[in-house]
Amino acid sequence: MTEGREDKAAQAHRLREINKQFKRLAPASHAAMREGYQALELKVEQLEQQLATARQDILREVLIEPSIHPSMKAGCAGEFTIDIQVVCPECWNREWDDDEACQFCNNQSDEHSLVDNTVVVPWDTQKEIFKMMSRFKYQALQESNEQ
Ligand SMILES: [Zn+2]
Repeated sequence: MTEGREDKAAQAHRLREINKQFKRLAPASHAAMREGYQALELKVEQLEQQLATARQDILREVLIEPSIHPSMKAGCAGEFTIDIQVVCPECWNREWDDDEACQFCNNQSDEHSLVDNTVVVPWDTQKEIFKMMSRFKYQALQESNEQ
């Protein structure tokens, strides 16, 4: 019991001492905290700026000068076609009562010598489309950022 009371008295004394020290230190620590907080805010601001710059660099690199990866050609070349009508050069010049099969269109042309033809979009054209679309996307993103 006695020991317990002494302990309580000692604890109370220690708490008072801590409290005194805290009161002495408090203004300084507040200032230090404020300084630390301001430094942190500045750092966050700098990081946000760096991030914005990096984002711009990446967008520019990806959309203004988009590189063509081999997988793009492997996956997309020959995948797009356009159906058009062309004049069959052989049928154009021959008589219509000619029974011989046309070597060029296999007699598929109509009375105007037109024949359906499927044209594959060339890979170079696909690349140009991709690059132009990327540039337009970059421009649109720039404009939405500026607003
Ligand atoms: Zn023909």
